[in-house]
Amino acid sequence: MIGAGLIGLSLAFELAERGAAVRVFDRAEPARAASWAGAGMLAPYTERITNDALLTLCEASLREYPAFVRRVADASGVDPHLRLEGVLYAAFGPEEFANLRQQSASLQSRAVACEVLDRAGALAAEPWLSPSVAGALLKRQEGFVDNRRFGRALVAACNARGVRIERSDSIALECDSRRVLGVRTGGGFIACDVVVNACGAWAAGLEGVPAACVPPVEPIKGQMVALSVPIGFARRATWVPGAYLVPREDGRLLIGATVEPSGFDERTTAAGIHALLHSAVDAAPALGSFTVTESWAGLRPGTPDGLPVLGATVLEGFFLATGHYRNGILLAPATARSIADAVETGNCAPLAPFALGRFGTERPAASRITYA
Ligand SMILES: Cc1cc2nc3c(=O)[nH]c(=O)nc-3n(C[C@H](O)[C@H](O)[C@H](O)COP(=O)(O)OP(=O)(O)OC[C@H]3O[C@@H](n4cnc5c(N)ncnc54)[C@H](O)[C@@H]3O)c2cc1C
Repeated sequence: MIGAGLIGLSLAFELAERGAAVRVFDRAEPARAASWAGAGMLAPYTERITNDALLTLCEASLREYPAFVRRVADASGVDPHLRLEGVLYAAFGPEEFANLRQQSASLQSRAVACEVLDRAGALAAEPWLSPSVAGALLKRQEGFVDNRRFGRALVAACNARGVRIERSDSIALECDSRRVLGVRTGGGFIACDVVVNACGAWAAGLEGVPAACVPPVEPIKGQMVALSVPIGFARRATWVPGAYLVPREDGRLLIGATVEPSGFDERTTAAGIHALLHSAVDAAPALGSFTVTESWAGLRPGTPDGLPVLGATVLEGFFLATGHYRNGILLAPATARSIADAVETGNCAPLAPFALGRFGTERPAASRITYA
């Protein structure tokens, strides 16, 4: 495995539990990068994913979350704080509220448990919202996980299952014209039958990979800011115009996130943090008096069509598990299960909508990639 984010670590844990000998290589600290920077929201409906294959994979992952987290917690002794008590989407005008009613009808036709709340209902659910709220849509199956704790838990769970996580400044794939041979690091050559590229936003830059196996992944920056609020102040992750707010059990309230195609730039900026705070305080003036405790940025792995790149490549033994863009934390369990299945059985048919081959041999140049 190359890349020790939530995707690489989840897959390493899954493979190790199935009996494989697994090593994970990373050039930096494991479970940092985007997997640390994210908000941990598990919210495919609130994200309004329109691609059927992606929505189906996200729904499967959401269903698999409780059992996967339990296995990781059992192996690690670390509770990742999974909370699936619903996500609220608050509307502040009649038009937006009407849109939520429409969304509710279409979700209910898909058997998704959701409920339209009027103004009083929205304020009863989350009393810190501005009294100007028009109403809200509560999606009951959604929620969040504390992704930083989940990352720490996965590192410990991998260690407990015999996975070696190794850090090296130089990491490259080695292959011949037909198949994978192994991984070369600063410490030497390690022969491997299977190598998975789980390098997140950096997946296109992994050394030693033949051009036909390079995924067209690009970094999309997200900035976030955290406030210190009384513990229990907010119960649920809540979307408001221009931002979302996600509580943590230690009393932090995360506010996210910008979406910026700005290369490998991980700085927070005055404009980015200003926009987030402005949206949050507009929707909930009570937030204005709390202390700002932290701000940070991370790089989402974006792809030209917004879908992840999953499965085998034309190079025998070389797999891709990257391009999860805004939903990599949500998709970790299903990615781990489905790539482990593909590695074990050689059957990548269930992953066909996410295959690298969909981009053809002519890859879009970076400048031609556009994002919604
Ligand atoms: C601000 C923000 C908010 C987000 N919110 C959510 C959310 O609420 N819900 C959700 O589901 N998703 C969210 N995401 C998206 C999610 O965080 C990512 O999709 C996910 O973390 C990607 O995981 P990953 O393991 O692929 O990548 P990463 O976590 O970025 O890990 C990649 C790893 O690969 C390593 N690496 C890179 N190149 C090399 C190399 N050449 N050699 C060796 N190692 C290498 C890196 O050091 C890193 O450790 C958010 C992202 C951001 C930035």
